Amino acid sequence: MTERKILTLWSDDHWNEAEAKRLREPCEEIPIPLDKAAREDIRALTDAFLERDDALGLAAPQIGIGRRVIIFKNKHFDEKGRPAGDKDYDVLVNPRITQTRGEPVRGAEGCLSCPEIQVEIERHPEIKVRACDREGRKINKRYTDFGARVVQHEMDHLEGILIVDHEGTVLVPRKKRAFFESVLSKK
Ligand SMILES: [Zn+2]
Repeated sequence: MTERKILTLWSDDHWNEAEAKRLREPCEEIPIPLDKAAREDIRALTDAFLERDDALGLAAPQIGIGRRVIIFKNKHFDEKGRPAGDKDYDVLVNPRITQTRGEPVRGAEGCLSCPEIQVEIERHPEIKVRACDREGRKINKRYTDFGARVVQHEMDHLEGILIVDHEGTVLVPRKKRAFFESVLSKK
């Protein structure tokens, strides 16, 4: 089975104008209670996430669905491979950060939609999030450290914000420096 395509700002040596436009659109709220279309979108995102082993998290706009749902591993962050079961990943529908704690912490982040680079980004080390789960039930969650970073990264996608939109040092492969200098100047 072929993996579901992930939209990217660029591929190899060219800028993807059409995909960039879609990735940059703010997403729409999902209706609660979930309707059929919402359930299908959540299922599509879950399938796309579970069929890959290179994603810590994924946001619906990355697979071309402009709606407010994200999915990410909630444990085993250091292991490669897929989540073993339902409890190893979280789905958040219409997530909102209700509280942040601690001084922002800088860390390097990659993104499947911005291949080959990393950007050093400051994130809150602790957040509280109000959302609905994959069945549309209201939930409140608390995430810390790396988990909090992943959630903030995925929630950025719902606003059309990508790692290259943050201030911070961009780490690029040396032999493609010229390409990224030109591509990132027109982001
Ligand atoms: Zn991302």
